[in-house]
Amino acid sequence: MKPWEAYYRSVTPYVPGEQPQGARLIKLNTNENPYPPAPGVARALKELDASALRKYPDPAASELTAALAGYHGLAPEQIFVGVGSDDVLGMAFLTFFNSGKPVLFPDVTYSFYPVWAELFGVPYETVPLDESFQIRPEDYARENGGVLFPNPNAPTGCYLPLEQVEAILRLNRDVAVIVDEAYIDFGGTSARELLDRYENLLVVRTFSKSRSLAGMRIGYAMGAPSLIRAMQNVKYSYNSYTMDLPSIRLGVESIKDEAYFRETVGRITATRERAKERFRGLGFVCTDSMANFLFVRHEKVPAEELFEVLREQQIYVRHFRGPRVSDYLRVTVGTEEEMEALFQFLGSYVSRR
Ligand SMILES: *Cc1c(COP(=O)(O)O)cnc(C)c1O
Repeated sequence: MKPWEAYYRSVTPYVPGEQPQGARLIKLNTNENPYPPAPGVARALKELDASALRKYPDPAASELTAALAGYHGLAPEQIFVGVGSDDVLGMAFLTFFNSGKPVLFPDVTYSFYPVWAELFGVPYETVPLDESFQIRPEDYARENGGVLFPNPNAPTGCYLPLEQVEAILRLNRDVAVIVDEAYIDFGGTSARELLDRYENLLVVRTFSKSRSLAGMRIGYAMGAPSLIRAMQNVKYSYNSYTMDLPSIRLGVESIKDEAYFRETVGRITATRERAKERFRGLGFVCTDSMANFLFVRHEKVPAEELFEVLREQQIYVRHFRGPRVSDYLRVTVGTEEEMEALFQFLGSYVSRR
């Protein structure tokens, strides 16, 4: 080891799903949207004037912040935008979780949470989900330095009804409570409507899934002005110009086209509901996912085997190692045609086993 290597920060990074290249593959492994972004987004991208890139972007991304505020019926002071919700969540960790007490999140959840906790030196405790992968609000009634969970949860897709989200808030009035709503557009009620009553609530969203813009990196948070201001102070202490000009412009265009948004989200949820039936018909156990993915386990065939044989067919799904989840596959909802190809193969494979 070189002497300076002893001073490196030692981290175990988050492992994103692979991004295989090729035209014929079916990619159902990272919860991307199978449909393109709104037509106005493509138009704005074409019309983007390269000479405008000469200047720094607006550090406050005011245009996008205003569009989001208008969309959600909030004040611009209640919106924080960032480079994907991963950036927003990372900033939230840095901003809110400094009590020295453990932050609470579920044992089965987005695997980035423990990575940020380690990176920023935030102590944490995981709270087990019940046998049916549900969050039990009463389990969050203990001393903590903050609470964080996705709703619907990942990778299970399980949704926690709004009354129960509120129950967690009632039990945690003195710490920041963060609800990661990466998948809320695919079903369920947003905690957005609780913002008036809970000044310690932060609701985090992304353009990566329901708005087909994973490649653009846009995320945001909604919360009381004091929370948002605190996050901005941290952001401006690290990198003022997080949102580049194309992200700001294209994000605004996406927000404008509500009809297209509803249409594509509707198509995905309809495909998801049909896919649940197909999986169950083939002998899979399947959670009642409210997200744009399904969390499934076959009664007889191990998940790892299915993952491998699907991969040989150029069908990519996600398999997580670790307790409670390694029996399952997470399958993103693709187009009807992609799902049909998946079920054609699975149907013949599991019947031969
Ligand atoms: C996808 C995802 C995110 C991150 O999305 P970005 O692409 O960074 O906006 C955050 N939380 C959960 C639960 C996710 O699944």
